[in-house]
Amino acid sequence: MTVPGLERSLPDVPERTSAERAAGPFAHPPPPPYVALMDLDFTEDEIRRYSRHILLAEVGGTGQAKLKAARVLIIGAGGLGSPLVLYLAAAGIGTIGIVDHDTVELSNLQRQIAHSTDGIGRPKAESAAATAHAINPEVEFEIHATRLTADNALDLVSRYDIVCDGTDNFPTRFLTADACVLAHRTLVSAAVLRFDGQLSVFKPHDGGPCYRCLYPEPPPPGLVPTCSEAGVLGAVTGVMGTLQATEVLKEILGVGETLAGRLLVWDALATRFRTVKLPRDPDCALCGPQATIRDLSTHAEATAPVCGL
Ligand code: ZN
Repeated sequence: MTVPGLERSLPDVPERTSAERAAGPFAHPPPPPYVALMDLDFTEDEIRRYSRHILLAEVGGTGQAKLKAARVLIIGAGGLGSPLVLYLAAAGIGTIGIVDHDTVELSNLQRQIAHSTDGIGRPKAESAAATAHAINPEVEFEIHATRLTADNALDLVSRYDIVCDGTDNFPTRFLTADACVLAHRTLVSAAVLRFDGQLSVFKPHDGGPCYRCLYPEPPPPGLVPTCSEAGVLGAVTGVMGTLQATEVLKEILGVGETLAGRLLVWDALATRFRTVKLPRDPDCALCGPQATIRDLSTHAEATAPVCGL
């Protein structure tokens, strides 16, 4: 299907040669550096809008230009996707893609703050983009009101610099994680359930672990409940989505200490944050030297929808 906005998109991803395929998942050329697309020409309004960023030594005009040049894909416009899209748009990310095939329901509004009561029945990707556009009309939004599938995941992910996972089901999480490794894209992944949250950054192309180093396989269906089964405190998704947005901005700016190789765990009831080390698994089927996952064919049968929690 035609994806609105993508016809004017960034470079085509070159086909992999058989030699590259044999070399494993990191045989793709790395994505172009942000600096190649930077435009340091700001309007007066942009300077005013981003003045609190520009004041920060770690951001400045150059950092703001990096944000403007960046393309970020958000998968799931739900509880995590809402603060993500709002803060990334407010921060001046140049292009934000939103993948969600669902429509806004009344039960979403307890936590999915990018949608409103008036928007019930509207496609979520469109509703989230409209809210974020009202905050910052300078941002280009690419709305993908479609399911993420084995057929479109690699193409979609490859068109962005950084991918954010804000979904609520394991088939889509693993599909996203596999596509990011195969396409060499940094994945900023958060998860919430009840009163707990987790967050990490996966960029094995830069030396860290991948999502499958942490969870080699999806759990059997029904073993781990989803938010629609077990519930979630709305504000918990807001905090985790906002932390996720912060890590996206850090990765683009190249500031601070990356969360790659570490897992942040938050227990909201105890008000306790912990960070645990996340080593790379040398036997990982996705990013290890003997990787067996070379394409997305294992996901071909998956029919689970992208559903933003
Ligand atoms: Zn791995």
